[in-house]
Amino acid sequence: MANRIPLCLLPTPLHRLDRLSQRLGQEIWIKRDDLTGFALGGNKGRKLEYLAGEILEAKAEVVVSCGASQSNFLRQLAACCSVLGVRCIGVCMDRPYQEPDRLTPGVLALGGNRNLDDWFGMERVVVPDGTWDDLESHATEIARQESKRGHIVHQIPLGGSGPLGVLAFYEAAKEIPNGFDSVFTASSSGSTHVGLQTGFQGTDTKVVGIACDPEPEIVDDLVDLSRAFHSATGIGEPLRREEIVFDLGHVGPGYGAAGESGNRATEILARTEGILLDPVYSAKAFAGLLEWVESGRATGKILFWHTGGTPALFASTGD
Ligand SMILES: *Cc1c(COP(=O)(O)O)cnc(C)c1O
Repeated sequence: MANRIPLCLLPTPLHRLDRLSQRLGQEIWIKRDDLTGFALGGNKGRKLEYLAGEILEAKAEVVVSCGASQSNFLRQLAACCSVLGVRCIGVCMDRPYQEPDRLTPGVLALGGNRNLDDWFGMERVVVPDGTWDDLESHATEIARQESKRGHIVHQIPLGGSGPLGVLAFYEAAKEIPNGFDSVFTASSSGSTHVGLQTGFQGTDTKVVGIACDPEPEIVDDLVDLSRAFHSATGIGEPLRREEIVFDLGHVGPGYGAAGESGNRATEILARTEGILLDPVYSAKAFAGLLEWVESGRATGKILFWHTGGTPALFASTGD
């Protein structure tokens, strides 16, 4: 396994949300991965500490990855590449989707992260809208071209979700003391969810992943990712499909667009605790937490894993 290159300020703060706990009648805590302290924070910094080790080991001159135009991963990856002194090519799509008939209205493609990428010197390649698989194929093709030009190229999967991304969150789970009944996290490319759930294996802490994309098939990707992690590291037990909680109830209009329940959740957290969420991921995850608590499905000591993403608050649809 790759060496870990420190980029973040760890451990991130963990604190109780007193006013919200009082309002909801349960004990609600928050893990502040919005404050990882690197390139404006977010969950990707943890993965990048391991991916940076891999980039150095590969002696890469060019790193290629892909994401939506509003990708938090590409923003933090570009910063990581700046630190390592290597070029970063980010292949972007405004509206990636799983199936053409699911084109999402109101996608936050402009501004936000996109502006920040420029400060970190990311070389942006914009490709026409298509599926997530199309997006990855474009990235692979661009990596191939760079390689043909004689550069040492290292390609990184969407969202940094390979075994190293899972490892980062398996380790992150160790920052949480025993005694939590549940942990809520946004779940998208999957390594945050799979890593945390593997980290809490054998404890009484249940991990609830809240979907940010409308595709239920993503659960299969989570299972595959968990298997890949287990084969690469031998750590833990591969997750079984039936033990994965993946709640699709708060996706709203689709990936990359704000939803009604997420907006309500953002308003509640902002106006009780003065903490901001992002419209694409953490707002949806927090809406999930609120619904589980309000319906009595989650009780006791509950942890919200704030995955960051707040630059998207400054994004717009351009519609
Ligand atoms: C990427 C991201 C997630 C999802 O994490 P995955 O490991 O890709 O599932 C959640 N929240 C924010 C803010 C993100 O940028």
